[in-house]
Amino acid sequence: MGGGFTAEQESRLLPRVARGEWLGAYALSEAEAGSDVANISCRAVREGDEWVVNGTKMWCTYADQADYLVLFARTDPNRDPAKPHRGISTFLVEKERGSFPAGITGTPVRKIGYFGWQTWELSFDDFRIPASALLGEEGKGFYMAVSGLEVGRAHTAARAIGLARAALEDSIAYVATREQFGRPIGEFQYLRFEIAKMAADIEAARQLMYSVATAIDSGRRCSTEAAMCKLVATEMAERVTSQGIQIHGGAGYTTDFQVERHWRDARLTRIFEGTSEIQMRIISDDLLGRSG
Ligand SMILES: Cc1cc2nc3c(=O)[nH]c(=O)nc-3n(C[C@H](O)[C@H](O)[C@H](O)COP(=O)(O)OP(=O)(O)OC[C@H]3O[C@@H](n4cnc5c(N)ncnc54)[C@H](O)[C@@H]3O)c2cc1C
Repeated sequence: MGGGFTAEQESRLLPRVARGEWLGAYALSEAEAGSDVANISCRAVREGDEWVVNGTKMWCTYADQADYLVLFARTDPNRDPAKPHRGISTFLVEKERGSFPAGITGTPVRKIGYFGWQTWELSFDDFRIPASALLGEEGKGFYMAVSGLEVGRAHTAARAIGLARAALEDSIAYVATREQFGRPIGEFQYLRFEIAKMAADIEAARQLMYSVATAIDSGRRCSTEAAMCKLVATEMAERVTSQGIQIHGGAGYTTDFQVERHWRDARLTRIFEGTSEIQMRIISDDLLGRSG
């Protein structure tokens, strides 16, 4: 969940989060603020002992089932166009699992995959939260949002690697049973080599992910390596899962086999937690200095 908790919040909430009993959703992105997330417009205004929130959030995954939302809203009305990341604050919104509190309405996003979680557009209409819901320092929320990015990127890389591994395992099983020209297709050298390449690509991404995870665990900053790891693993996952479909032939293009789902889900990993282009921007800025 990141830092910024009071001692009371830490002892009351974090053990339940660590045990997986209290699950959260992340309300940062907006329709007009995705890659350029410092550009958010959702507003929170202090009124007495409460904050009053108005605006919309896009792409809030698991918002309905979550026990809490980590919500980012602009609390400083004087937005500096040159430094839009200033004046954003973070709030912990406690809610009932399975519904939205009064003042929040949710519209499901019509996705093409990742059906295990529903993703929501949220609308905040004079939504009131107690003053104590503020996490960390007022106006410093953007720094909280970016502080967890290394972990988020290693985590997304791990998910992508898992999807690619599933496509590889399904492909290995399929080539052993599917026969064409009187023999299992796993005897054709081209398919054997494709499977070898898939396995090698997965292993390369896995080792890069482990090295970033080790850096994170040892407390070393590794934002460039984390960006490389997210880029390499997610691009690999789309390639490998797509190859998994190819190996299944027409069967791969049906919902009778899991490999189409691995591909649809892998496709997303190139987009969320910072797109591939944003990862390349981070890496190239580190190598070449920031462009204008
Ligand atoms: C299924 C799903 C679940 C999500 N879940 C959550 C969630 O739970 N919480 C949350 O807060 N967000 C969530 N997101 C949002 C996600 O993080 C954003 O979609 C992502 O950051 C991209 O933003 P965008 O969609 O606005 O695309 P845009 O930022 O509009 O990007 C469009 C294209 O422009 C490119 N681009 C943008 N800027 C640059 C640049 N400077 N240089 C080069 N290319 C650039 C992008 O790479 C992309 O190709 C989710 C998204 C999806 C699709």
